[in-house]
Amino acid sequence: MRTVNLINVELAMPVDATQPYDDNNIFAKILRGEIPSTKIYEDEFAYAFPDINAQAPTHILVIPKGGYVSWDDFSDRASDTEIAGFVRAVGKIARDSGLVEPGYRLLANTGPDSHQEVPHLHVHIFAGRPLGPMLAR
Ligand code: 5GP
Repeated sequence: MRTVNLINVELAMPVDATQPYDDNNIFAKILRGEIPSTKIYEDEFAYAFPDINAQAPTHILVIPKGGYVSWDDFSDRASDTEIAGFVRAVGKIARDSGLVEPGYRLLANTGPDSHQEVPHLHVHIFAGRPLGPMLAR
């Protein structure tokens, strides 16, 4: 019998970053506390938690408190205050995690070619080992 995991089905759907924000997504539910997560950092503009499927020894997701589909949506619609607050939060999380000296990588997937899976802007922070080439070839 074929079993279907609904969470994975939802994650596998490619995000169309041109669509309006829909607050029924997983990260909106995490922000509302409807889905559990382990808080790494929180302020007025950002919330950070470990990725459920870590792809490096350190793999942190940072999301804005506001509802934005992607980097495109955020850079278009967010206020200067939200953008500054979010960018500073990403930097502070990496700095406070001791990642500046060894180094880290930021990634924000946008749309189908990037394999964006969740339609709420998230910045991945990868670190903890040499991370290899920028893109798979
Ligand atoms: P994307 O491919 O959209 O850039 O990345 C989405 C990320 O969200 C994936 O790395 C995936 O493992 C992570 N993710 C999806 N659902 C959950 C969840 O419920 N909790 C946590 N902590 N991470 C999740």
